[in-house]
Amino acid sequence: MRAPAMAAASDVAAALASISARLAAASARAGRAAPPRLVAVSKTKPLPALAAAYAAGQRVFGENYVQELLDKAPQMPADVSWHFIGHLQTNKAKALVAGVPNLACVETVDSAKLADKLQQAAVAAGRAEALGVLVQVNTSGEESKHGVAPSDAPALATHIAASCPALTVRGLMTIGMPDYTTRPENFLCLASVRDAVASALAVPPSTLELSMGMSGDFEAAAEMGSTSVRVGSSIFGAREYPAAA
Ligand SMILES: *Cc1c(COP(=O)(O)O)cnc(C)c1O
Repeated sequence: MRAPAMAAASDVAAALASISARLAAASARAGRAAPPRLVAVSKTKPLPALAAAYAAGQRVFGENYVQELLDKAPQMPADVSWHFIGHLQTNKAKALVAGVPNLACVETVDSAKLADKLQQAAVAAGRAEALGVLVQVNTSGEESKHGVAPSDAPALATHIAASCPALTVRGLMTIGMPDYTTRPENFLCLASVRDAVASALAVPPSTLELSMGMSGDFEAAAEMGSTSVRVGSSIFGAREYPAAA
């Protein structure tokens, strides 16, 4: 068995500094006042890698798997803001919300049923603050991708705003296609969905977040208005999933 690839702490710190600089430069090129938030995607990575990022000042982390986040969250400092960015089954919403008091955002809400489960879970957990949620939009139309169709996002956002008082709609999230040449269309799509959602909620579009951009395209996303990029392998190194036995 090969040892898992693990970046040294200094590598993680250097990668974070370089990504922050590239985000700042991309934002400046686009004439934006502030760069997007950097969510450090730490799925499959061991705690020392997260601790290295924390020591370098990183406070926002993204995880994809409920059990992995339930294991890691109590072992990291309480001032970490956790973003859940994986597909969330409705029957795991309760455990996720109960087990991670510092869960800041679930970025992958794609049904009213899931929103309702998160609402119940947030009430049951007695959270002091509303749980932030993003509506996940399938901007590429690929069947393999989760998320609501762009035209269905306003109705889901309206449902959450009207019926889920323990949740706050913070904006929209998309994954998009990995092909750089087609992906800008997906980013442009998310920005136009934001306008529709803002008008449905009667709020200014600028109050809604756009979570888009990963290791391969976070600079393009920053130039196209992303307010939150989710970057994993560029910080922590390539992921190695355990081979099937
Ligand atoms: C894994 C993952 C990322 C990070 O991907 P990288 O290419 O490693 O930066 C971002 N967003 C989602 C939803 C992910 O699942």
